[in-house]
Amino acid sequence: MSPSSLARPTPPGEPTPRNPARGGGGSSPGAPDDGLGTPDDGPTSGTYPGDSTTSPSASPSASPGGTASPDPTDGPKVLYLTFDDGPTKYTPEILGVLAKHNAKATFFQLGEEIDLYPQYAADVRQAGHTIGNHTEDHKSLPSLSSSDIRAEISGGPSSKCLRPPYGSVNSTLRSIADDLGLKLVLWDVDTLDWTRPGVDKIESAIVDNAKSGRVILMHDGGGNRSQTVTALDRALTTLSARGYVFHSLDC
Ligand SMILES: [Zn+2]
Repeated sequence: MSPSSLARPTPPGEPTPRNPARGGGGSSPGAPDDGLGTPDDGPTSGTYPGDSTTSPSASPSASPGGTASPDPTDGPKVLYLTFDDGPTKYTPEILGVLAKHNAKATFFQLGEEIDLYPQYAADVRQAGHTIGNHTEDHKSLPSLSSSDIRAEISGGPSSKCLRPPYGSVNSTLRSIADDLGLKLVLWDVDTLDWTRPGVDKIESAIVDNAKSGRVILMHDGGGNRSQTVTALDRALTTLSARGYVFHSLDC
């Protein structure tokens, strides 16, 4: 069905493409952003949606510091927090929460948002987080020509990692990413924070699905992210007490 088909059983639900965050107002209807319906049906799959083929590496082996190997018993339990669709006015709040918990994360940013909030993009790097490319303006890449895909990517921030909008991937995109030396990075746990389900639900999506090595999807853009900010703070308090540490992906 959808052109995407991440080589995974369920192609992303392909929510209506839209321009995340852009319109300000923060109340984009439905704002599916990365919501992707459920590209990755399930927070607990434990694998990347795109894993089934030899993708350019959609694995958190991207981890720095040699913590990629999840070992539930020894060593630190590592989570990879990721925030998509920013930077926006919520980015500083997210940065504040991360700093409070001594957490590092990865921000998959849009070129058009960086144009709007260049200082916030700089602040993310300055704080020691990593930045991934989420394209120029959040188009679903598989529906584009090769040259348009390349243009979308080049309009995003410079990075070693690409997270395609909606998690939508096809073979053309894979080969372009390969060619550009970009790792495709999806996620293991979708918090669905963009649906604004309430702080408690976002918090439990993070906490209940935490497992060492997992990549968690959240958003600092695409609409009002107040719930995400509060839920993140609570979840990091709980998970820190359980021995988790939070690292950036090597992007
Ligand atoms: Zn997105």
